[in-house]
Amino acid sequence: MATHFYSCSPIPAKPITKTIHNKFILLPNPRISTSRHRNNFVASSSSSTSTLRALISPAATSVAEDEATTSTKPSKSLPFSVGHGFDLHRLEPGYPLIIGGINIPHDRGCEAHSDGDVLLHCVVDAILGALGLPDIGQIFPDNDPNWKGAASSVFIKEAVRLMHEAVYEIGNLDATLILQRPKLSPHKVAIKANLSELLGADPSVVNLKAKTHERVDSLGENRSIAAHTVVLLMRK
Ligand SMILES: [Zn+2]
Repeated sequence: MATHFYSCSPIPAKPITKTIHNKFILLPNPRISTSRHRNNFVASSSSSTSTLRALISPAATSVAEDEATTSTKPSKSLPFSVGHGFDLHRLEPGYPLIIGGINIPHDRGCEAHSDGDVLLHCVVDAILGALGLPDIGQIFPDNDPNWKGAASSVFIKEAVRLMHEAVYEIGNLDATLILQRPKLSPHKVAIKANLSELLGADPSVVNLKAKTHERVDSLGENRSIAAHTVVLLMRK
């Protein structure tokens, strides 16, 4: 019933939402225009729409339908989609430092609503971005008690499920962690192996880099940790 939203030109910067019977429904990025994906996100009875509608808070969807644009031009369907993710957390004493699902010995860790896994959050955002979906904070609100102390593997499994539902798979992923301490080189193999397993991807297409922040700003002063991720999704 909203097929005209799939022929937008230019491509909207943000995902489109539409209100039907006072419920927000997410519409996918027009670049991702397989019929299966379209059906998954448009049909109000589909599992993904139901899941997302349940996950997204009213505040997160308040942008609503004024972002919808219309055009009669058909969009070009590409066999791949790129997404970028960024995350940063404050480091505080008394918290575990969990990176890529691995507990890293350190004198401080991330203060966060969930387990504060900066790498997994960043990877989730990259996948959601490639799918033309809202960011992790909108899908898993930090004021939702369901996610308090949650292992971030929950978030990444949901992102991977959405990816497969949209008929995509990981082409390759490149992540960069930025932290002054501790050194990550002794833990890189374990982090990469766990991340690859969570993604269901071959380790050869998952790359992990780490760098310091030259002792500058909060990152360089061991007061925060950040990560960037770029992911290429390929249509299956
Ligand atoms: Zn985070």
